[in-house]
Amino acid sequence: MLTSQKMAALATGGATIRKMFEEGALLKAQIGADLVYDFSIGNPDVPPPAALRETLIRILQENRPGAHGYMPNAGWPQVREQVAAGLTREQGRELEGAFTARHVVMTVGAAGALNIIFKAILDPGDEVVTPRPYFMEYNQYAENHGGRIVPAEPGPNFRLDVKAIGRKITPATRAVLINSPHNPTGVIYTAEELAGLGALLVQASQRNGRPVFLIADEPYRKLAYGGRTVPAVFPAYTHTIVATSHSKDLSVPGERIGYAAINPDLPGSKPLFEALATANRILGFVSAPSLMQLALGELQGTTVDVALYERRRDLFVGGLKAAGYDLTVPEGAFYLFPKSPIADDTAFVELLKEENILAVPGRLFGQPGHFRLSYCVSETTIANSLPGFIRALEKACAQAA
Ligand code: PLP
Repeated sequence: MLTSQKMAALATGGATIRKMFEEGALLKAQIGADLVYDFSIGNPDVPPPAALRETLIRILQENRPGAHGYMPNAGWPQVREQVAAGLTREQGRELEGAFTARHVVMTVGAAGALNIIFKAILDPGDEVVTPRPYFMEYNQYAENHGGRIVPAEPGPNFRLDVKAIGRKITPATRAVLINSPHNPTGVIYTAEELAGLGALLVQASQRNGRPVFLIADEPYRKLAYGGRTVPAVFPAYTHTIVATSHSKDLSVPGERIGYAAINPDLPGSKPLFEALATANRILGFVSAPSLMQLALGELQGTTVDVALYERRRDLFVGGLKAAGYDLTVPEGAFYLFPKSPIADDTAFVELLKEENILAVPGRLFGQPGHFRLSYCVSETTIANSLPGFIRALEKACAQAA
């Protein structure tokens, strides 16, 4: 065998989605990209803000000494100060302390942030509880560091069910991982839900005799609709670490830039900061990409045009509801998670494929009976796909009858 047994299993496990992407690419080549309705992937198509390009060009033209060199593993100190100031401005109102460079570690996207967090806090056998459905990569990220994801039941309409999370907490629980705005449901957790979770984790930590961390995965924080702001998670609980990135809010997932932020109200957090920075180094990231760090330090508060996504959401939700689909209206992020009209979500995704519509079965998010649609596509693609959704629903109903 050319690979470890573990990697062989993982590489085959990923085959479903890879196969789907390959089939999608083949279909586009065969019948033309505009006749394939590809809702399978969360790869932002909205252009990055002009300010990002201008800032990158200016930094390059300035030819700053050392701009392409090594820096502390946590990232450029001045960039971490800028990010910390942005965090204090946006989410610091109810906190006693203020964010400083010592609370921020720049990372290789949110994926990099989650990996350094798990590396920093997990011992072998530790458990991380997360509500279903959830971003499928969490399993691998936890396993990378000897941990294990323990899924908890969601509440009605995929709201946070604190009691269900409580039922999954054991002496091995080291963290609860939440994601808001949520992929794939678009749910945004309220301040009350977060406070309830914080209270649960205070008790769990006392019972376990060690802190149970709250990890908030927030790459979609800026993508909230209807004028909503996403409630800050830090005031809910001191042992909170946020993992985030600019993959979605600046439309730069290929540039791999994000950060982990520690609650400034967590006393004695220096060893945690040092562990996160060390994890960046020893996992081989070493540090986040330098040029992107320098640019985004100056772009705190800059975001893609969220109104574009909101218009797509309204068009898609309206069209699917009118067609008879059952779905929760997303409050943020750029996904829909409708109920599959037949119990077998994989079979329904196949029916959609007959209409050249590409979707992801809910079971790949630990939630069979649903399917995920990403609206990182034009309004024209959404509008043109709707007759296919109607035909697929008719076929499903005919099969079920
Ligand atoms: N967390 C969630 C919920 C995501 O949807 C994604 C990417 O789609 C990530 C983490 C990883 O983000 P990044 O590409 O910034 O590493």
